[in-house]
Amino acid sequence: MSGVPAALRQAADMLAPTSDTARLDAEYLLAHALHMSRSDLLLKGASGPVPERFWHLIDRRRQHEPLAYILGSQDFYGRSFHVSPDVLIPRSDSESVVAAALEQPGARGRVLDCGVGSGALLLTILAENPGALGVGIDRSEAALAIARRNAGALGVADRVELLRRDWSENGWREELGRFDCIIANPPYVEDDAELDVSVRGYEPAGALFSGPDGLDDYRRLLPELRHLLAPQGQVVLEIGAMQAKPVAALAGQAGFSSQLRHDLASRPRALVLV
Ligand code: GLN
Repeated sequence: MSGVPAALRQAADMLAPTSDTARLDAEYLLAHALHMSRSDLLLKGASGPVPERFWHLIDRRRQHEPLAYILGSQDFYGRSFHVSPDVLIPRSDSESVVAAALEQPGARGRVLDCGVGSGALLLTILAENPGALGVGIDRSEAALAIARRNAGALGVADRVELLRRDWSENGWREELGRFDCIIANPPYVEDDAELDVSVRGYEPAGALFSGPDGLDDYRRLLPELRHLLAPQGQVVLEIGAMQAKPVAALAGQAGFSSQLRHDLASRPRALVLV
C-alpha cells in the first residue's frame, strides 16, 4: 500500500466498526505518524510511502484506544492539552462548564479546581483571565505532572499551584485558604454504568466512578466548599445529565442555592452555586 489517499481510505474502512469518526481518526493518525498537522496533510499531501507505524496506530484505535491517548493530546476550548491515560480526556461537554465559570466575577480572582486532572478547566480559565490565580488539587501525582506540563505549555505556570490533596482524607483543605471561585468536575459516574469500551477500558476509573449512584464525591465535597469559598464567591460544578436535582439538593443542604446550565447538546451539564 502506498499513497496517502489510498491509505486513508483503507484505514477508514478498518476503523469503521470501532469509530463513528473513522475517516477523521485516520487523518489524525496519519498526520501524527508523519509528524505533521492534519491540515498540512490534507492541504499539501505527503510524498513517499506511508510509514509502517501508521498501521500500528490504526491497530491501537481498532482496539478502542481513545484517539486522544494515541495522539497524546486533545483540543479543548481552542487550546491543545497534553493527555495520557493518567487523566480523563477533556470533553467538549466540559467547555460549557468553563463558559459558565468565565461568567463568574470570582473567575478573575483566586480560583480552585478540585480534581484538576489534565488542567483543562483551570488552565483555560487562567489563560482567558490574565489576572486570575489558580490552585489545582488532585489525588493523583501522575495527573498533577500532566497538569504542570500543560501549565507550562500554556504559559500560565507562574499563576498556578498544583498540589496533591485527596478530599477523602482528613485535613485536605488545610492551608489552601479562600477562593473567589471554585470549579470541579469530580467523578460522577455510577459504578455499574454502561460505558463505551474506549472509556471504561482506557480512562482512569478514579476520575469517573463515584459509588452506586455516582454522587459519593459530591456528598463529600459539597459540605467542605463553604469553608474554602470567599464570602461573595461562586462554585461551578460539572454534573451528569441526570444529576441536576440530586446535586442541587446536596448543595442546598450545604447552604448553597444553585442555577442550572446546559451544554451544547442541551443536556444539563453544570450547576452554579452561590
Ligand atoms: N462526562 C464523563 C463521561 O461521561 C464523566 C466525567 C466525570 O465523571 N467527571 O464519560
